[in-house]
Amino acid sequence: MSAPTVADIGRHIDAKLRVEDIPDFAGALNGIQVETDSAITKIAAAVDARERTIRDTANAGANLLIVHHGLFWSGPQPLRGAYLRRVRLLLEHDIAVYSSHLPLDMHPELGNNALLARELGLTPETGFARYKTVDIGVAGRCDLATAELVARATRFARGHGHEVRTAGTVEGKVTRRWAVCTGAGAGQDTLREAIGAGVDTLIVGEGPHWTAIDAEEAGLTIIYAGHYATETLGVRALAAHVGDVFGLPWLFLDAPTGL
Ligand SMILES: [Zn+2]
Repeated sequence: MSAPTVADIGRHIDAKLRVEDIPDFAGALNGIQVETDSAITKIAAAVDARERTIRDTANAGANLLIVHHGLFWSGPQPLRGAYLRRVRLLLEHDIAVYSSHLPLDMHPELGNNALLARELGLTPETGFARYKTVDIGVAGRCDLATAELVARATRFARGHGHEVRTAGTVEGKVTRRWAVCTGAGAGQDTLREAIGAGVDTLIVGEGPHWTAIDAEEAGLTIIYAGHYATETLGVRALAAHVGDVFGLPWLFLDAPTGL
């Protein structure tokens, strides 16, 4: 196979993640965000398209950066200051960017949600966290001390610079119905959905303050395993997959936010 360009790789990922079929927030801009003409020789994966990861991509000699939170996350903005530095670095070093938000979150094999469940020893049975026409998260049943689940989440999150928080924990509780929604996974919709479905333990990345109170009052345990930590899995899996398919080396650039 001749060395692929980002257009070749982008076509493959778009199809694999069904990018055209998955709704998302406007700022996600899923797909190739920065195109180059060069042959891709090495892939870097990171959670966030930020100055640090772009610089690390260049230093690692990679020329394709795969991210979960892309360059346009905050909507249109002038090319000034830190934002200009990101773009300038990309162009100066001839680095292409591919970004995938919800299509990557929800993918059954490469997705953040399925992989976090597996990481915690849980087997997904159904979808969870409805967004328009799709389920972003996963859910299932188990018979596991909630404290053990918290311990597993703690081990995982500490590897990514995050200290797990919990809400609504009760001593001696056993988790029988769980749901996972990575990233900013605790909110009005997911709490309502979890409580309605009889979920007793909700595992998320992060959530607003009030979710801890509502959870406790509803008898729901929430494990906040970190927005960053819970979204490290998808980009790694995607980079490994692309590396396999196209015969390219890849690396993960860790840049924890602590949140
Ligand atoms: Zn996120």
